[in-house]
Amino acid sequence: MLQDASIEAVRAKFRGELITPADKGYEDARKVYNGMIDRRPRLILKCVDVADVMAAVAFARENGLLLAIRGGGHNGAGLGVCDDGLVIDLSRMRGVRVDPAARTVRAEGGCKWGDVDHATHPFGLATPSGFISTTGVAGLTLGGGIGYLTRKYGLTIDNLLAVDLVLADGRFVTASAEENTDLFWAVRGGGGNFGVATSFLFQLHPVGTVHAGPMLWPLEQATEVMQFFRDFIARAPEEMNGFFAFLTVPPGPPFPQHLHNHKMCGIVWCYCGPAEKVEEAFKPIRSFRPPSLEMVGPLPFPVVQSMFDALYAPGLQWYWRADFVNELSDEAIAQHIKHGSALPTMHSTMHLYPIDGAVHKVGRQETAFSYRESKLAEVIVGVDPDPANNSKITNWCKNYFDALHPYSAGGAYVNFMMEEGQERVRATYGDNYARLADIKRKYDPTNLFRVNQNILPAETTQTAQGLS
Ligand SMILES: Cc1cc2nc3c(=O)[nH]c(=O)nc-3n(C[C@H](O)[C@H](O)[C@H](O)COP(=O)(O)OP(=O)(O)OC[C@H]3O[C@@H](n4cnc5c(N)ncnc54)[C@H](O)[C@@H]3O)c2cc1C
Repeated sequence: MLQDASIEAVRAKFRGELITPADKGYEDARKVYNGMIDRRPRLILKCVDVADVMAAVAFARENGLLLAIRGGGHNGAGLGVCDDGLVIDLSRMRGVRVDPAARTVRAEGGCKWGDVDHATHPFGLATPSGFISTTGVAGLTLGGGIGYLTRKYGLTIDNLLAVDLVLADGRFVTASAEENTDLFWAVRGGGGNFGVATSFLFQLHPVGTVHAGPMLWPLEQATEVMQFFRDFIARAPEEMNGFFAFLTVPPGPPFPQHLHNHKMCGIVWCYCGPAEKVEEAFKPIRSFRPPSLEMVGPLPFPVVQSMFDALYAPGLQWYWRADFVNELSDEAIAQHIKHGSALPTMHSTMHLYPIDGAVHKVGRQETAFSYRESKLAEVIVGVDPDPANNSKITNWCKNYFDALHPYSAGGAYVNFMMEEGQERVRATYGDNYARLADIKRKYDPTNLFRVNQNILPAETTQTAQGLS
């Protein structure tokens, strides 16, 4: 246990909330989004400002504590919490400030994307994020950020102008194209390895109402739908985004009763171009083949972003596997049909997100995100409310992944991974790993920030290589 004296010492410097296992709020505070994660930190520090974060980092460093950083708490592997260490919890740092003239937004490190969308939408502006509004801004951004606006405006990191960080040695710095440029390169894809991000400055774009929603087809047509998706999305205008999904129709409104609980395949579209071009943009899709259900229409962007929030409420059991894909061959599609048709539970799914358009306009070595040249990000998720089904969803997910991995580009999007070992982390970063390891050595030589998809400081890397 931590000594009372050292807890009292940090309390004196701290304006936020200190939560120990003896406190009433502890059970709630240690929970993260994935209900499968059950970790018991020694201390949770809910920071309210940068000074709190500085005090918390110093406390972890001086007491040799394992340190986790919690932004939105959404990470599949549960990397926002740790056993037997300290959690810096930023959930009380959710301020957002829009500058409509400069078309920028500043978001504090504990924001969720819903906070940002809420603040920017009244100005008819948005920045690329993900496909759900409850994800944390921090974790999603630091890993890359793949979402509805990606084809048009790039990854979230391609819209990051600056980030404020508290470093392992306690310094507060800004990283941008002008300041600490090596750090700015590394945090655009390198995750939480380099410091605690206390705020982010993003470029905004004119996005207000989009034309979006799902189209669903019978599972028997999944081969043709997947082939159509592959061929169409590669040539579609950048304003058109869509992700392919195997899914089970939820048993409730707004879905028609005759489809409830049916396993189907679908594409969830989001068109962010001008209203007068919507018909033209959807014409090739509508002439492909009529879906069993179409729910595409004009929607405010924040509504689209939060369309799946209720279905995927916090606390479900999740098991993830993922890869990037360069080429979706017909052989790979056959494997997808086999495993995707066997979704083990209503919430389980497989998504294919396009990685092209604006993403391809940034070079592989311009940021730490190294799968710029891939075409798709594949994510397989076994999900269910009942822990009794954990082995069922996990086994399905692993088997599906094993069948598709040989057809992949070799590594995964860092934000869609479980704790899968160093080899997989290296596969994520490919030839950017060595530079990341050098930057890690410069900013975090003792690997204080290691509860993440960990990049080892360069010397340790060399030792590890020497041993292997
Ligand atoms: C339902 C669901 C939908 C998702 N959809 C998408 C999507 O559409 N697009 C996409 O790109 N990703 C998506 N993700 C993945 C998501 O990007 C990751 O789970 C991400 O890690 C979540 O960030 P967080 O801040 O909520 O996570 P946390 O669990 O709080 O943290 C995750 C990691 O980030 C680090 N971290 C968090 N905050 C900070 C900080 N302030 N400073 C430094 N490091 C920090 C932590 O150390 C940890 O390693 C989704 C996840 C879920 C569960």
